[in-house]
Amino acid sequence: MTKPRLILDQDDVLADTHGKLADIVLREFDTQLTSAELHQDSFYETLSQADQKRLYKILHEPGFFSDIPLIPNAQEAVLELSKKYEIFVATAAMEFPNSFREKYDWLHRHFGFISWSNIVFCGDKSILNGDYLIDDMPRNLKTFKGKGLLFNAPHNLKETEFERVMNWEEILKRLL
Ligand SMILES: [Mg+2]
Repeated sequence: MTKPRLILDQDDVLADTHGKLADIVLREFDTQLTSAELHQDSFYETLSQADQKRLYKILHEPGFFSDIPLIPNAQEAVLELSKKYEIFVATAAMEFPNSFREKYDWLHRHFGFISWSNIVFCGDKSILNGDYLIDDMPRNLKTFKGKGLLFNAPHNLKETEFERVMNWEEILKRLL
């Protein structure tokens, strides 16, 4: 029997990219914002234009994607889900071409059980074909033909169009 295909986004689904950026803002930027405030909305809303530009530059620095912390329980949950689903990781890496190697090595280090053949570096995710897609970006779920699940993130809190999942525990309950 073929397993249903489950496609996972990398940033802010497997990797806590927003969390790493928020830590950089707190540590290196001259800001009055608290960690809680930086997790209540997108950086477009919480930061000045100058700080947004500075953060965007940091995203392009070599090494940025190498040591992003894991989203809690992602490893265990994906391993569990891989028994029932064919797992793919699809990341819009084309936005940051320098990130390919770092993103690949990060996946290999934390999700070594996912074969290279199941990793997709793409631009526009409407090319994806699967049964489920878990992503924090509503625009990626909009064009997906299967069932989309919106992974809760500071930049999507106001989104109501898609079924929201708060964390990996909830995903296990929903999909197993
Ligand atoms: Mg993402």
